[in-house]
Amino acid sequence: MGNALGQLARRLGRFIPAGALRHVGGPAALFFHGVERQTLDTRVQLNHHDAEMFARIADTLRRDFDVRPLADIDRVLADPAAYPRAVFLMSDDGYANTLTVAADLLEGLPWTLFVSSAHIGSGLPSPVFVARLFYLYAPAGTYHLPHLPPSLRLAGAAEREAAADAGIDALRALPAGQAEETVAAMRAAFAGDSLDRLLARFTSEHFLDWNGVRALKARGVEIGAHADTHWPMHEKQSDAWLLQQTAGARARIEAETGPCRFFAYPFGNTPDIGPKAWRAVEAAGFSHAFTTLSGSLSAGGNRFLLPRYGIGPHDTHLASLVPLLGAGNRRLRAFQQRLAG
Ligand SMILES: [Zn+2]
Repeated sequence: MGNALGQLARRLGRFIPAGALRHVGGPAALFFHGVERQTLDTRVQLNHHDAEMFARIADTLRRDFDVRPLADIDRVLADPAAYPRAVFLMSDDGYANTLTVAADLLEGLPWTLFVSSAHIGSGLPSPVFVARLFYLYAPAGTYHLPHLPPSLRLAGAAEREAAADAGIDALRALPAGQAEETVAAMRAAFAGDSLDRLLARFTSEHFLDWNGVRALKARGVEIGAHADTHWPMHEKQSDAWLLQQTAGARARIEAETGPCRFFAYPFGNTPDIGPKAWRAVEAAGFSHAFTTLSGSLSAGGNRFLLPRYGIGPHDTHLASLVPLLGAGNRRLRAFQQRLAG
């Protein structure tokens, strides 16, 4: 539901000519995750753009926008009207394919990579990816997972997909410690090395190692933090855990790759960020942080709760879509005000 405005913009943007919108446009932050040349199972590899489609998106960014390095963010936030076509491009999580596929397609464009430090070079998969594999691939049967509704039946494909969506939503709402226990129970549902083989097969979900992050930095990519473990930073999380996600992630990234000023919240929507989260980000010394609420970049507001639009798999019409993002600003402001108190 949180993406309703983004979806509306996505639909409207297809039908409104870009020229008609230019005067209402404003600067925006846009993000993607990964880019793949081939996909095995779109139910699992939801986060990745098709390389051919992504190349068209990159062309649009070059042709129709003023794509800027994130170092310009303060200048743009101070006077958005002076930068109506400014775009900050970002990639979340730190997938290996950002180096092997996306970086070439984005040659010449500045962009920022937000990495979840605990996953870089460790072989630790994203918890939500493990959960998705469980719902879609665990042996058929009835399961009793800790901290989730008492009984779960997995059988047919449609049932599994519905269970995945509902189950992952419920999992996301848990405190990190409980979610870890639930994900451990999901892993235990797989016999022998069957989970390891699945994890190995979906190379799209493999993270970079630190050498890969440094290689991207050497190509001009700005490195930001996407927390330590890829998990929501809502109000059920403890102060100590939030400290690790912010100051801990920053210290690790700085030790590996140098200065790290920018932060992006995992999942990043209204249920995933609490009032303590943005304060922890500020206290850790970051200068700006990005949500996944749709909106345009405007003056004022909380620079630790900035809007960002997730580029959809078929969003080749960004020139008419991005100018509509300001429609989300009212909801963004309400969220910022709620989290200020
Ligand atoms: Zn993420």
